[in-house]
Amino acid sequence: MDIFSCQIQNTVEPHLSYAAATQERESNSPQDKSIPQTRSVGSHTRYWATGRTLKIAIMRLDDALFDTVKNAINQWAPYVNLTFEFIDLNEDDELYEGDIRIEISPLYNTVARSLIGTDALAAPSYSATMWLGTNSTEATYEAVAIHEFGHALGRLHEHQHPDANIPWDREKVYKALEKNHGMSRATVDATLFPLPRDNNATYAPYDRHSVMHYQVTNDATLGDWEQLTNLQLSEGDIAFARQMYP
Ligand SMILES: [Zn+2]
Repeated sequence: MDIFSCQIQNTVEPHLSYAAATQERESNSPQDKSIPQTRSVGSHTRYWATGRTLKIAIMRLDDALFDTVKNAINQWAPYVNLTFEFIDLNEDDELYEGDIRIEISPLYNTVARSLIGTDALAAPSYSATMWLGTNSTEATYEAVAIHEFGHALGRLHEHQHPDANIPWDREKVYKALEKNHGMSRATVDATLFPLPRDNNATYAPYDRHSVMHYQVTNDATLGDWEQLTNLQLSEGDIAFARQMYP
């Protein structure tokens, strides 16, 4: 059962996350109703200030891998009012430079990771904020990088949309993820299954073709339902990006 490919990192203290988000962009506060709020696990969104330059530091293991990651991130560029500036992540520096800091290691070949949006501002600057594998010959490598950068822009998982109607075979999924990844039932609930509707948020329609959707293999569902890895930004992803960063 190959469904778990990314783990959101919620390692930032909630009050630091809130302070960083609202200092960066006032409308990240759930009290501000002047622009539509999009959904969030917590009570605030974590979007970057519109129009700003995002400094993106990528570990340069080799030029080809650097360019692969950079090109994946640049898929988002036409649809967001942000300027991407790419630099090398220099491990010799005591404090890493870069708003978003991407570590690349075989450790993350199975499960990639990222902080959500402005949580990167609250993370210590000696640590990365996004983690990718090195298996760039895999057909889905670029898709994983696009997905992780979606998190870095502040997006959450589409398969956890409250209206996600995936007919999960829950007991089978619990057993498989415990066996393969040592995940508890609570962790599976928090990672995979739909989240309750947040009244502070407005929602785009559930989009199974979103890059922010996990691959769902047929053996994880009841009946005949599967969603293979989405390789490109969907119409919904593009609309969402434009709404987040007008
Ligand atoms: Zn993810």
